[in-house]
Amino acid sequence: MTGVFHVKQFDVLVVGGGHAGCEAAHAAARSGADTALVTMKKADIGIMSCNPAIGGLGKGHLVREIDAMDGVMGKVADASGIQFRLLNRRKGPAVQGPRAQSDRRVYQREMLNLTENAKNLTIIEGEVVDFLMEGSAVTGVKLADGTELASKTVVLTSGTFLRGLIHIGDVSYAGGRMGDKESSRLAKRIDDFDLPLGRLKTGTPPRLDGRTIAWDRLERQDGDDDPTLFSFLSRKAPLRQVACGITHTNSKTHDIIRDNLSRSAMYGGHIDGTGPRYCPSIEDKIVRFADKESHQIFLEPEGLDDDTVYPNGVSTSLPEDVQRAYIQSIAGLEDAVIMQPGYAIEYDFVDPCVLDADLSLRSVPGLYLAGQINGTTGYEEAAAQGLVAGLNAARSARGDDPVYFRRDQSYIGVMIDDLTTRGVTEPYRMFTSRAEFRLSLRADNADQRLTPLGIDLGCVGTHRAECFTRKLEKLDAGRERMMSDSFTPKQIAASGIKINQDGTKRTPFQLLAFPDVSLDDVVRLAPDLGDLDPEVGLQISREALYANYIERQKQDVERLRKDESYAIPADFAYQAVTGLSAELKAKLEHVRPGDLSQAARIDGMTPAALALLLGRIRYLE
Ligand code: FAD
Repeated sequence: MTGVFHVKQFDVLVVGGGHAGCEAAHAAARSGADTALVTMKKADIGIMSCNPAIGGLGKGHLVREIDAMDGVMGKVADASGIQFRLLNRRKGPAVQGPRAQSDRRVYQREMLNLTENAKNLTIIEGEVVDFLMEGSAVTGVKLADGTELASKTVVLTSGTFLRGLIHIGDVSYAGGRMGDKESSRLAKRIDDFDLPLGRLKTGTPPRLDGRTIAWDRLERQDGDDDPTLFSFLSRKAPLRQVACGITHTNSKTHDIIRDNLSRSAMYGGHIDGTGPRYCPSIEDKIVRFADKESHQIFLEPEGLDDDTVYPNGVSTSLPEDVQRAYIQSIAGLEDAVIMQPGYAIEYDFVDPCVLDADLSLRSVPGLYLAGQINGTTGYEEAAAQGLVAGLNAARSARGDDPVYFRRDQSYIGVMIDDLTTRGVTEPYRMFTSRAEFRLSLRADNADQRLTPLGIDLGCVGTHRAECFTRKLEKLDAGRERMMSDSFTPKQIAASGIKINQDGTKRTPFQLLAFPDVSLDDVVRLAPDLGDLDPEVGLQISREALYANYIERQKQDVERLRKDESYAIPADFAYQAVTGLSAELKAKLEHVRPGDLSQAARIDGMTPAALALLLGRIRYLE
């Protein structure tokens, strides 16, 4: 349909049906906002542009947190999972990360299904080319066919589509991702906002025809027998589980790649953008780790009724003939047929320092940004930002204060704070090492950390709220039982538990703080605990393991909170602070931290400079 017409006034309008957009639209709709999701192609909602997998280290934590707020990514990953693995299983629970390989088509189908059937949510197909404005504020969007959609707030989640440029060897063409056109008109419109923009790049491997792989000659990797699911509400993985294959590059593979480096888009000088250091292309690996003789490749089936295989570890921007040659040099892939070549994509991103911690743009009221457009990479990072932007856009639409996620409360808070305070110089991805409070920010307790907040904000449904309340009651009762009786060193030793004896009586909870003491051990000591719900017992064991450390961590958090109480006024004049270096003044003006703790994390900030700031804020109070 063409022509200029208004459909209706929405509360929240989300542009883009990728991972950020879906989560933003669902979060806004769950919060009661009348929401529209506008995307290029309805059938592409929830598409996985790169690997068919969700979660991993740090990323799995994000998915659990999204789920704790009743988000959709975890449920869809569980419904489509064909191999679940808990990474770092042998390490402590704080750094374990749930990961699932998905059936790509089922993931997309489930996401579309949930989105089509969500209350308060309308899907509109179309390309957004312009914004409707009132003064400097965004009040809606305009589609390529002339349709105007009015909205109180707009969340933009256009991913890799802004001035997207695809590279395969020395061939480059405009595109948002393989098979999709880029968003050049929207990119031009965004130029008018005069935002600090940069260029980033990312790449994906060639897809292989699984029928041409010699699986019987490859090492096999099965998933876990007892899958760790993402959603706190899921009980069972519904799909058949599959194994992956493992193979390795070799000296011949490396020679082929090295001999053709000048033909790679990344190394042939065709790409200006910065790539992800933590997810390097195979060209990058050969150059950066020149002394390594081989690199591991996971051959991941893309679905149960799909012969496509994703070779994880060999993303590339080499020409197709070189891709074929290096793939066929690898054991088990000698006859492998490439179904879609690997490619790199370069795209615009907005420096996230211009965003507030609710992901709204400071200079354009009503406009929120989430996902790859903010310089991140990964489905989970995108979805987590979508959740924050969608929630806040809905709150702003009904005149409520923004909600901020704290660093000591969630990985979501860590990511948003990192992005809005430090900005990005390369695609940002989540790691457990980014979280200073990681002992308490575990994937297993994401619901205890965030579901109460979600219930308060009105974005958690009744079913989840009831399940959570029942779980909390069971946990409280279980903890009380684990802490009520204490045992003498003699009783403890008699049960077979071996700990350094210091003459102290200990409760089962205190005993579980010793890494070598298991739940089975304490049940031998206190047999009446044997009837504890196994899930509850396991959860309390994890808490007990970290209890002493977390107490210390709590004190650190309190100290940080005291600083946080010093809010910095939005119009604070940094130039008027005598003694601050010109460089720091410029950085502070650029970032405009909301409080002192955020200022403290700015690159180059010193305790002395913080003291000057604090002095000036107190003077003005
Ligand atoms: P996307 O998933 O890209 O979704 C953007 C959506 O916006 C699309 O639905 C699109 O149709 C829509 N859209 C865009 N412009 C408009 C418009 N003007 N009007 C209406 N709709 C619009 N991540 C990793 O973690 N590791 C990797 O190795 C990796 N490699 C990648 C390789 C490639 C080639 C690509 C393309 C992506 C890769 N990713 C990788 C990134 C991952 O796909 C993204 O991080 C994630 O999909 C970002 O989610 P998003 O919601 O921000 O954007």
